[in-house]
Amino acid sequence: MGKPAGPIPSVDEIIRTDVGKIACERFGHAATVGAVRAALERFRATIGEAGDERPDRASIALAVGTAATDRLNAADLPRVRRVFNLTGTVLHTNLGRATLPENAIEAATAAMRHAVALEYDLQSGGRGERDDAVRDLLKELTGAEDALVVNNNAAAVLLVLNTFSLRRGAIVSRGELIEIGGSFRMPEIMKRAGAELVEVGTTNRTHLKDYEAAIGPSTGLLMKVHTSNYLIQGFTKEVLTAELSRLAAKHAIPLVDDLGSGTLVDLSAWGMRRERTVQDAVGDGSDLVTFSGDKLLGGPQAGFIVGRRDLVAACAKNPIKRALRLDKIRLAALEATLKLYRDPDRLAERLPTLRHLSRSKADVGDAASRVAAALAAELGDRAVVEVVDCASQIGSGALPLETVPSRGVSITPAGEGKPSGRRLARLAAALRALPVPVIGRIERNAVVLDVRCLDDEQTFATQLTKLQWADSTNESA
Ligand SMILES: *Cc1c(COP(=O)(O)O)cnc(C)c1O
Repeated sequence: MGKPAGPIPSVDEIIRTDVGKIACERFGHAATVGAVRAALERFRATIGEAGDERPDRASIALAVGTAATDRLNAADLPRVRRVFNLTGTVLHTNLGRATLPENAIEAATAAMRHAVALEYDLQSGGRGERDDAVRDLLKELTGAEDALVVNNNAAAVLLVLNTFSLRRGAIVSRGELIEIGGSFRMPEIMKRAGAELVEVGTTNRTHLKDYEAAIGPSTGLLMKVHTSNYLIQGFTKEVLTAELSRLAAKHAIPLVDDLGSGTLVDLSAWGMRRERTVQDAVGDGSDLVTFSGDKLLGGPQAGFIVGRRDLVAACAKNPIKRALRLDKIRLAALEATLKLYRDPDRLAERLPTLRHLSRSKADVGDAASRVAAALAAELGDRAVVEVVDCASQIGSGALPLETVPSRGVSITPAGEGKPSGRRLARLAAALRALPVPVIGRIERNAVVLDVRCLDDEQTFATQLTKLQWADSTNESA
């Protein structure tokens, strides 16, 4: 027989201990009481197992108070948390795409903190237009007559389709009916926009005559879509914008070019393959061009519509525009980001997306060596840490087959033979459980961290002492 169950401290008693007081200070009385009550219940539920070893009242209070604090701390961690993107995909949609330049961060912070001249003309003291902040910049940078901005590129496409193709035909090549990341599918957006999809050509070949044959009295627009995440190769034929533009003009139908990522600079200047720019699309005769703010452009999430003045004005007048508009924070960040494009010589220095993409393999390699040394010091003989070649991707539907030669760190749990998938998954999970979660990828029987996008090596290295990784080899995969 064990001792009779001694009195268990009350919620109040625990709240009055040092741990309880500190928790109240941090999380408030109500939340702390709730957490202590829950922790106390859990303690009672497990009390049977304690037997003779039942601790004294003060120890129970401390243990329950600490458990409650742990819960409160865990619940307090932001869900939208900073992470280290070491996946090798520079514009990773699941990790928030572009990281913003410093001037955009400052502008956004100021816009959050203060009243701003958003729809206010400081010269006249009268009403201004929300998009004015970026309209002139976009005109200047793209060569288009006019511009407007909405929530994202999906919204830009939706607005254009709804404005010109409501209950009218939108003609698209069968080779360009894209799906991006599962939720954006061109045929579905068209349907929701009220447009009637008119598919022309075949998956691999579409000719000018296919478009021409489809044009009729109820045609609302011709659409060209950038095949952002795939390439059609082999026996293929696509009609280029310049040709389509002549056809569209002949029939007085707008030609819309959905560029997707859309870049304002010739990427070959930074060693990448040249991607058609927004200026190219405008110059080739697209009446409207749509593209994203947070893909190659490197700014906040946004969608642009640039092109002919009368057509942009029609989009701006569509009541749906109001539901898709940008808030002051992103507009401020966008204006700052776009301004950097006035000085292309310093763009790679200032714009993180371009800085990451254009970072030389040697430079990434040096960083990989430092990261490998820090990891090896922490892991000791528990893992084999090596600097390896890898390939970064741009991501978010830009240059889909293009990779950028990179360097990374491969971590392989020590031991005979190939580590099992489960052991690798546990290592990856331990890295994700760090204060700033480290997101890598599992590849070639190792966890590989591509360090191309690692800016803050200091934080990365110092937090490694917190790595909790219990590897165990004596189990089946
Ligand atoms: C990415 C993409 C979109 C969607 O853009 P979001 O900014 O993610 O809304 C639309 N069309 C194309 C061709 C794209 O590549």
